[in-house]
Amino acid sequence: MEFTKILGKDIEEWKQEYPILEKIIATEPVFWQNPRQQTFREAIKKITLHEGDIKAAEERLQRFSPYIAKVFPETQSASGIIESPTVHIAAMQAELEKMYKLTLPGSLLLKCDSHLAISGSIKARGGIYEVLKHAEDLAMAHRLLTVNDDYAILDSEKFRSFFSGYSIQVGSTGNLGLSIGMIGAQLGFRVTVHMSADAKQWKKDLLRCKGVTVIEYGSDYSKAVEAGRKQSQADPTSYFVDDENSTNLFLGYAVAAARLKSQLDEMNVVVDDEHPLFVYLPCGVGGGPGGVAFGLKMLYRDNVHCFFAEPTHSPCMLIGLLTGQHDRVSVQDFGIDNRTDADGLAVGRASAFVGKTVENLLSGVYTVDDAELYVLLSMLANTERMYLEPSALAGVYGPVQLFRSNAGQQYLAEHKLSGKMANAAHIVWATGGSMVPEEIMQQYYHEGLRRLKQRTS
Ligand SMILES: *Cc1c(COP(=O)(O)O)cnc(C)c1O
Repeated sequence: MEFTKILGKDIEEWKQEYPILEKIIATEPVFWQNPRQQTFREAIKKITLHEGDIKAAEERLQRFSPYIAKVFPETQSASGIIESPTVHIAAMQAELEKMYKLTLPGSLLLKCDSHLAISGSIKARGGIYEVLKHAEDLAMAHRLLTVNDDYAILDSEKFRSFFSGYSIQVGSTGNLGLSIGMIGAQLGFRVTVHMSADAKQWKKDLLRCKGVTVIEYGSDYSKAVEAGRKQSQADPTSYFVDDENSTNLFLGYAVAAARLKSQLDEMNVVVDDEHPLFVYLPCGVGGGPGGVAFGLKMLYRDNVHCFFAEPTHSPCMLIGLLTGQHDRVSVQDFGIDNRTDADGLAVGRASAFVGKTVENLLSGVYTVDDAELYVLLSMLANTERMYLEPSALAGVYGPVQLFRSNAGQQYLAEHKLSGKMANAAHIVWATGGSMVPEEIMQQYYHEGLRRLKQRTS
């Protein structure tokens, strides 16, 4: 190993330049404050996406809402808008204080993307949005649809037969494929999902049931994406949903911000100079958390503090941001194995597009052990009767680490927040879980209980 160089430097040189790498490479949990963070006014100057882009995405989802309500009846009560509840989790907050022996001032809330309609994860935002946009682009180019139409007409033999002349492909660790497959197949597209080795069997089975072609790879996410991109490029009727580079996915996620703001307003959760908002987002390749963080920064600017959460074995965004090398480095380059039970986060190389977009906006990144995810899973189930998949618990560890770590304390002090924390709101983004089959969820839960007992005995 000592002879391999990463971008011309050996591991020892990298560690000297970035001392925190010692712990990251040893897969110990860390809390990293982003030294490149700037004020919103400074940071936004370099970003080419604008408020108008998010607005356009919001309006597109609105246009599709009559169609969504018609073909996915579970969205009827929300008039075809796919959105999740935001809830206080005071019992969990109290349990966290007990478990980690600290006080968590402010209020703790859960954003329940675990319960988003159609695919039960945050991917029901970006993934579905991108397929809808592609369908609209195609139908409009062929003069089959205008913005003034009632999009419920898409639920017809005419449109399904039209879309069946086109295919959509995507590389995924599971949830993105599930999302793209569900909406793509419903519209009539031929869909191929390239699944990494981490993908759970039930996700593949469910997609095959819907008529989606699932190709399985023994390798990790980056390889599945590469293979999908290649196959798609060879077919002129094929569209590739590029999780590593897609602005459409990103904007689909960003729409979450304005919706969350309405919910917070309704709940009388104030966000201003005296009431800071902290948001903790589980991160895989970066599009989901990046899009949501971008949207939130556009609305709340310097009053929102966004942190990404990654497994200790897959800290790809952390390594990309820390070194400033983005997708030119992978966790495997540094000898980290990218093996985690948090399948939604099992990504070894981050999106450079997302990294560069958020590098001056993001407050920091922290890592969390798989064991911790299981413990938190069972704690949340016991206190709030909320059942999430392991990836989705990564956010819950954020407030604990913010108050417990020196880096977290330093962040609060530097931003003159220490005196305002009693007024703070902490939103943990629960990114998935409601589609997990009952018996698999029971296994997760019992794994968490077992570890919980070890700790408290
Ligand atoms: C995909 C996913 C994430 C992270 O989203 P990225 O866009 O890959 O960063 C987080 N949690 C779950 C459950 C996911 O499926």
